[in-house]
Amino acid sequence: MLSKIDHLGIAVKSIDEAVPYYEKVLGLKCEGREEVPSQKVRTAFFDIGGVHIELLEPTSPDSPIAKFLEKNPAGGIHHLALATDNLEADLKNAADNGVRLIDETGRPGAGNKTIAFLHPKSTMGVLTEFCQPNKDGGCCCGGH
Ligand code: ZN
Repeated sequence: MLSKIDHLGIAVKSIDEAVPYYEKVLGLKCEGREEVPSQKVRTAFFDIGGVHIELLEPTSPDSPIAKFLEKNPAGGIHHLALATDNLEADLKNAADNGVRLIDETGRPGAGNKTIAFLHPKSTMGVLTEFCQPNKDGGCCCGGH
């Protein structure tokens, strides 16, 4: 079951350039940084009231985030992530309702979570991620 907004994913050209805005202007605390090789991104997480902001910087020109930045050079909101306690069941439910899946099954994400994306063509233009904490103690700071 989906229970809450887990995080908003925001594409940035440079995490190092973006962090001072989130820390100094917004006053949020960076909870951790992590590279996610499967998605070819570096991430940094901030907490605001139990919801996270996930900054995403591409580590390769063929990263999905690099492609997003080609279309949106200033950066911007990339995806909406919803927390689930049963990723496979929620994916199946979406597929059963005709939603196109980017990931047929979960794959490793940042913060010791298993994630899967729904296709924005099926979700009114919002790239949507389901994410589930791994059983071995999912933590938003990635164990740092
Ligand atoms: Zn995400």
